[in-house]
Amino acid sequence: SKPALSMYRALPDGEIAIEEFERFAMDRLRVLKGIEDLKVKGFRFDQMEPKILELYEQHMGGATSEERHRKDIISHFVLRLAYCSTDDLRRWLLAQECDLFRARFNQMLADEQVPQEFSEELREKLLQVLMSLPGVKATAGMVTADSFYKVPFEQVPDLVASRRVYLQAGFAYVSRDQMSSLVIQPFRAALSKALTVTARRWEVVVAPGEADRLAPMVQSLSRRYLGPDFSNREVDDDKRPKAADIPRLARESFPLCMATMYDALHEKHHLKHDGRLQFRLFLKGIGLPLDQALHFWRTEMAPVTPTEKFTKEYEYGIKHSYGKEGKRTDYTPYTCAKIVSSIPGVDQVHGCPYRTFNQQSLRSALGRLQVSPAKIEEAVGKAAAGHYQLACAAAWEGKHGCSCDSGINHPNQYFEESRKALQ
Ligand code: SF4
Repeated sequence: SKPALSMYRALPDGEIAIEEFERFAMDRLRVLKGIEDLKVKGFRFDQMEPKILELYEQHMGGATSEERHRKDIISHFVLRLAYCSTDDLRRWLLAQECDLFRARFNQMLADEQVPQEFSEELREKLLQVLMSLPGVKATAGMVTADSFYKVPFEQVPDLVASRRVYLQAGFAYVSRDQMSSLVIQPFRAALSKALTVTARRWEVVVAPGEADRLAPMVQSLSRRYLGPDFSNREVDDDKRPKAADIPRLARESFPLCMATMYDALHEKHHLKHDGRLQFRLFLKGIGLPLDQALHFWRTEMAPVTPTEKFTKEYEYGIKHSYGKEGKRTDYTPYTCAKIVSSIPGVDQVHGCPYRTFNQQSLRSALGRLQVSPAKIEEAVGKAAAGHYQLACAAAWEGKHGCSCDSGINHPNQYFEESRKALQ
């Protein structure tokens, strides 16, 4: 069936669960971020177009066309809220949404193309209309079946009213070029205006009333992690850390989750399965080469794990993380979202300490990391309110003495920002 394409004039209504709200927005963000990546790679719009539609299919699907439509509308409006607060955010959203709209619009038009009976008579009429348009140097060659669309006339009232299209039997024949100026540009203008209005309304009306529930989620959306996955960092060989650097790096630049794991491993010479996974992928993400990883784990575990046992029981897992065994997948270090959502059992130390530690343990752990006292209190407060990544960003700031503009979304990102700040 023909994809429904909304101009997003009306706000969505009906009930929506908060986690659905968030999930829809994240899925749309993945599409928009993908569009941005394509542009960064230098693709022209016509090269991007099929990829944009693919991205949209991949992330914005739904079982029925109603579901797809609902997700489309809701996610669009949530991102308006999340990206209305500053000029930069508005500009970013506008650019990606316009490209998405244009690609989907062209796709919709592809279904509306002038059908086979493209008669000589019709060609004549279309040529006459084209020639009557100011600023258009029409030639017969411009009038081909695939440069025109046949659209129910009520879909293009602006064009009909200004007599810039040929009308026949309830259909308007519209050239591809006109479509852009008459539909895409108004879309951009309307969205741009809506974002400014939303920014004002959000601050005055919505955010104060939703300070506990919606507001933090919406605000964090624009900082949500969609960045590199750190699975295969291109680090120069001479910049890669060695096993012997890990204790120092843990003190200087590990986020609390990883510093905690390092301490536990160093003290007990052992980590349980989930912890080993979380920690060794992080270490891979900071660029520790496989041979150094083997050396590091072997040394740390040596007091309780004889070499043969290590080789037999643990080497495989480490090589596996590096894609050297088993399915040879290059495993991806965990994001904060993933770590925060895993709850350690008794005697386990994985997960996010901002979520799993009580206030007292959190205070002393942050003290050991040498976070400034004021920032420790800020982090403890944020953690108590359930904002773990904000707490982590506060700790980062309290450790490095500068502001952490990007927020914390990934332990490896924490690490990289830290190395940058320290240099
Ligand atoms: Fe680790 Fe992320 Fe939690 Fe910070 S917020 S401690 S980086 S999981």
